Amino acid sequence: MTPEQKVLIGGKWREAATAERMEVINPANGKPFASVPKCGPKDVDRAVAAALEAQPAWAGRPMSDRSKILLKLSQLVRDHLEELAKLETLEQGSPIRKTMGMDIPQCAEHFEYFAGIARGMTGETLPVGPWCASMTVREPLGVVGLITPWNFPALMVVWKMAAAIVTGNTCVVKPPSIAPLTSLRIGELALEAGVPPGVVNVITGPGSTAGEAMVRHQDIAKIGFTGDSATGKRIMSLASDTVKPVGLELGGKNPFVVLADADIDSAVEGAVWGAFFNSGQVCAAASRFYIHESLYDEFAKKFVSAARTLRVGDPMKAETVMGPLAYKEHRDKVEAYIDEAKKSRAKLLLGGERPTTSETKDGYFVAPTVFGDCSNDMAFMQDEMFGPVVGLVRFKTTDEAIALANDTRYGLSGSVWTKDVRTGLSMAGRIKAGTVWVNEHLCISCETPWGGCKESGWGKDASTMALEEYTMTKHIYVDLMGGPDRPWYGMLK
Ligand code: NAD
Repeated sequence: MTPEQKVLIGGKWREAATAERMEVINPANGKPFASVPKCGPKDVDRAVAAALEAQPAWAGRPMSDRSKILLKLSQLVRDHLEELAKLETLEQGSPIRKTMGMDIPQCAEHFEYFAGIARGMTGETLPVGPWCASMTVREPLGVVGLITPWNFPALMVVWKMAAAIVTGNTCVVKPPSIAPLTSLRIGELALEAGVPPGVVNVITGPGSTAGEAMVRHQDIAKIGFTGDSATGKRIMSLASDTVKPVGLELGGKNPFVVLADADIDSAVEGAVWGAFFNSGQVCAAASRFYIHESLYDEFAKKFVSAARTLRVGDPMKAETVMGPLAYKEHRDKVEAYIDEAKKSRAKLLLGGERPTTSETKDGYFVAPTVFGDCSNDMAFMQDEMFGPVVGLVRFKTTDEAIALANDTRYGLSGSVWTKDVRTGLSMAGRIKAGTVWVNEHLCISCETPWGGCKESGWGKDASTMALEEYTMTKHIYVDLMGGPDRPWYGMLK
């Protein structure tokens, strides 16, 4: 990957129409290390035209062909594991142990998974007749626009791209401005795998120009979006002009409920993982902790001492488990919430500051931060902070815990910790969210549907349900008899 990247349109590398560029900054040291074209509406037009041209032939190929190409792409991603992982760590700051051990292998898994399940996609025959054959078929939508966030730069693209292209769509991908490089490289690997030019186009540019031009574009049949809830609302309103369907995977403020009978050590382990994985920059991160009063003190003590041991530092070092936040303005936003929490009744139990080691002094690092004695009326307990900052709340009864957990505008995920599986299941039914884990948090895989409710959005990524997101159901009716046997024609006589 050269420091001066171009964008991929119709299988060719191009500059933006305006020739403007945007810097990509390493959040671990604040230094620019690459640049990408700053695309705008003209580039979107070009990318959509390339995708439109490529779509009929791609959709016309047998599913087995597209599936085999995805399998090849999956293998290429595995072959380039280290290169892709380093690139993602450089552009986004995730520790190399995470990008090598999870993000990039998960990208390969998703290509492989969708290559497999798409071959099992079926329609239905419907019980009308016997004078006709009535059936449904699944058809691609056409050109889809995929707009993705920076917190898992490669995986968020692959979640959508794999389902979209295997079903015969072509796509225009717009990765996040601050971390666009892995998406460009995956686009290049797609070409190498045999994806025809124009099927995967990757353009880079600001959401306010390139992103909005995609949402408004007449020839884009659907927008698959993952990002902030405020952006999702804006996209939803813009999409209404062309009555464009949008898939919205938005923000979260996820509850972590520890009942009186929970295995406390297991819950503490889950809490550290759920709260601080990817420096808390996870839509499903546990950020609101509701702990039964009988074990609140013990939980808080053990949680804080476990979180204190996390190694925060240079994400390129294998021993680092928490890297920096992804960019400066985001770090500043998280710090503003921390300052506000410090001024509230909440009690700072851990962190609340920038780590000050030689590895962290120039980057956008925030230490793991835990506030105790919190309540839901504090703004930082309602807004998605998207950083390594959590608040602990005591509760007395299960009903109170449910009410607190549901007291949010989001509905993405949550977890319940209890030794009684019946209680766990019943609580899972009462928490309003797209996913509820019992005795686990942040357990997401290609087989399981992902998506929320309320201001966390709608639609599903991953699982067989993602195939439905990128296909439309068409009903086909074939008359088998003709003439007077058609029962309804007689009604006009
Ligand atoms: P963001 O909304 O700022 O940006 C996401 C993408 O949208 C970027 O590519 C951006 O350039 C583009 N964009 C911005 N404004 C746009 C506009 N007006 N029109 C079209 N496109 C526009 O989000 P972010 O800061 O990159 O990502 C963090 C957010 O993503 C968090 O809220 C997080 O919870 C959410 N997220 C959700 C999921 C999920 O599955 N629900 C997964 C990951 C991240």
